[in-house]
Amino acid sequence: MAHVKLHIPGPVEVSEKTFEAFRSPMIGHRGGEFKDLYAAIQPKLQELLFTERRVYLSTSSAWGVMEGAIRNLVAKKVLCCMNGAFSDKWLAVAQRCGKEAEGLQVDWGSPIRAEAIDAKLSSGEFDAMTVIHNETSTGVMSPIYDIAALKKKYPDVMFIVDTVSSMSAVKLEFDALGIDVMLAGTQKAFALPPGLALFACSEAALDKASKMPDRGYYFDFLEFQKNAEKDMTPSTPSIGHVYALKSKLEDIFEEGLEARFSRHQKTAQMTRDWAQGHGFTLFPEPGFESVTLTCINNGAREGGTRIDVPKLIKSTQERGFLINGGYGKIKGITFRISHMGDETEESMKQLFAALDEGLKEQ
Ligand SMILES: *Cc1c(COP(=O)(O)O)cnc(C)c1O
Repeated sequence: MAHVKLHIPGPVEVSEKTFEAFRSPMIGHRGGEFKDLYAAIQPKLQELLFTERRVYLSTSSAWGVMEGAIRNLVAKKVLCCMNGAFSDKWLAVAQRCGKEAEGLQVDWGSPIRAEAIDAKLSSGEFDAMTVIHNETSTGVMSPIYDIAALKKKYPDVMFIVDTVSSMSAVKLEFDALGIDVMLAGTQKAFALPPGLALFACSEAALDKASKMPDRGYYFDFLEFQKNAEKDMTPSTPSIGHVYALKSKLEDIFEEGLEARFSRHQKTAQMTRDWAQGHGFTLFPEPGFESVTLTCINNGAREGGTRIDVPKLIKSTQERGFLINGGYGKIKGITFRISHMGDETEESMKQLFAALDEGLKEQ
């Protein structure tokens, strides 16, 4: 069957070069060759995340590390900032881990604002906070630098930040942000196959984890640190992913970080322009649109006409591209287009041509 190119917000399209690296011959994960591979990647990951901390590799999807952060860092009560399907779920995950948790719910489409977090944390009830930088379900990007600035006021609160669909596409300076955990899954902006997550932890987070009972083993942050000091992972990693990551980091630094960030800005702007050019409005509150995916309203076109989203998806698919018909409770009333990873102005134009044809068939 002909391959349909992925423009869904994860997993995204994986390049041939990445796949080639992914299927490198297998090596032992405790041997010198693996350690050399790990050690070669580490400085590039640190440069990408603007950190001197180690960047850990977890063979899991992002949720593994998201749940791990709860188990490692929440002793008293966690504040879960909620503005979409992924961030809403984090509250339920914290509760399932047996933690005291409270939601800070804002409307889907709105960002999480620092002032709202400040008002909650000022109660002194919380020792941890979760927030999603880029809510993939709604296409909203929250002002993470403003939020992170609160850390100075609440040094004892663990700031746990999901950058799953923004890491590597947007400048995120882990050390300068001063947050405690920053994590991502590689099937989003890294454009790797699903199955690997990356994260960094502050010194304070490791100290806190060391005092926490019931951290478990697989996502014990101290195990990641202990093994990272020896250029290894706690358990057998997906070695193919590590090769693929090495290849991707070569691509990233060949392009240059600033060029990569501005490419994402540009393809995002093109997508917003395409949508607005067809009379659609965007789901996010203006000024908080994601740079890695665009979430478009269905039903607010000029004249109030709605499109048949499943039909648009089908006709676009027949032309070789897959977009997404909305997520969670906004399925069908929105649709989403991903422009993260390897997408360029040229590749986006090809998608828009297919979408234009699809719209004609409505
Ligand atoms: C995709 C996504 C997740 C979940 O990632 P998995 O890899 O499926 O565990 C969490 N948060 C955000 C913001 C995401 O985009």
